[in-house]
Amino acid sequence: MSDYLRLENVSKTFGGIRAVNDVSFALKQGEIVGLIGPNGAGKTTLVNVITGVHPASLGRVIFQGEEVTRQKPFQAARRGLARTFQIVQPFPEMTVLDNVAAGALFGGSPEGLAEAREHAHRHLAFVGLDPIADQPAASLTLPNRKRLELAKSLAMNPKVLMLDEVNAGLNTGEIDTALDLIRRISERGITILLIEHLMKVVMSVSQRLLVLHHGALIAEGEPQKVVNDQHVVEAYLGEK
Ligand code: ATP
Repeated sequence: MSDYLRLENVSKTFGGIRAVNDVSFALKQGEIVGLIGPNGAGKTTLVNVITGVHPASLGRVIFQGEEVTRQKPFQAARRGLARTFQIVQPFPEMTVLDNVAAGALFGGSPEGLAEAREHAHRHLAFVGLDPIADQPAASLTLPNRKRLELAKSLAMNPKVLMLDEVNAGLNTGEIDTALDLIRRISERGITILLIEHLMKVVMSVSQRLLVLHHGALIAEGEPQKVVNDQHVVEAYLGEK
């Protein structure tokens, strides 16, 4: 498989802080790759760089052979680079359905609102929320807000889906449901970058792991090998 999404020597600085430091890696089409690292390691910033929210200060992002380093978030979405947010913030007054329809419109595929709603129903059915499609998003429980976020990102018709702590705050049963959804999304050929603090979760679905520490990539590869890597163990122990 050839590289699908590639980062070349990417750095991102905020004032004096180097949140991402000279990071290079590639994702292959259809892979599930876990992105782990202690708090403040730069994981969310990396997703923000890839999706154009905070473009790289240095280095290049290449997607399907095209340089996309300076793209805007809506351009990233239209190219199929979709993400969920760590802090889930649906439009609270809008219905569950219209939150997802908004995602479909942002992704740019439907012709208008009616078609966007049709797409939204399909994605809501996939995550199990269609029965409450007409409720206001503000009324949802945390697990359902996470599912809504997933449906919204799927409505963007993603090629690469970056999931930022979609399991945080969920109980074991809810995590199992979320993992099942992640596997089914992957079966559609969507490449997944999974940011996750729960090691059991990340180990159970990831085919490869990337480890960030102080903004730098300190390990990459087969999950079992990576978690036993001396640098990785030290990075995590140093946090405690
Ligand atoms: P966590 O696991 O806690 O979510 P993370 O690995 O996602 O952490 P980031 O949120 O990417 O880490 O933060 C990396 C560093 O960049 C931190 O020092 C953070 O304070 C800084 N940072 C992130 N975004 C900004 C910003 N918009 N402005 C200034 N500093 C930022």
